[in-house]
Amino acid sequence: MNQKHCPFCKTPATSGCTHLALAAEGRSFVRRCVELSHGASEWRTLCEKRRSLVRATGEWSPEQEDYTWLETAFGEDFLKRLRWFGGMDYEWRSGPKLQQGGFWVLLWSKDPRRLWWELRDEFERQAGDLRIPELKARGPKTDDPRKRGFDGIMNAA
Ligand SMILES: [Zn+2]
Repeated sequence: MNQKHCPFCKTPATSGCTHLALAAEGRSFVRRCVELSHGASEWRTLCEKRRSLVRATGEWSPEQEDYTWLETAFGEDFLKRLRWFGGMDYEWRSGPKLQQGGFWVLLWSKDPRRLWWELRDEFERQAGDLRIPELKARGPKTDDPRKRGFDGIMNAA
């Protein structure tokens, strides 16, 4: 009833085809993506930087942190930006016992191997882009973060 098919070759997801990069339960989806991309250290660096950034801006909350790792947010922030991203689907799969059933996340790509390489690069790129402000802005807000940093130094001197 809820059977999903490959967007490229129309094979049922349960049969599997070369375009099915990953089929995983929702709760393990993000972890599996990180494993398959071999980008665990890049991912860790990015997570640490994101955490320090939200702390520095005073917007950190445990809820927000949890939210960040949901597969939907992960899809928006990382997967959907990739050139080799082919689609994400949800499929209900039943386990050996009825109560073990759950939603599985399916990730499609024309070439999963390239998708995983690209994902690791994306972790690295985003981590490189994050700038942790060393000085908290105390003065009036300016649009240019470099100018704000400079003012901060001048005020402290
Ligand atoms: Zn296929």
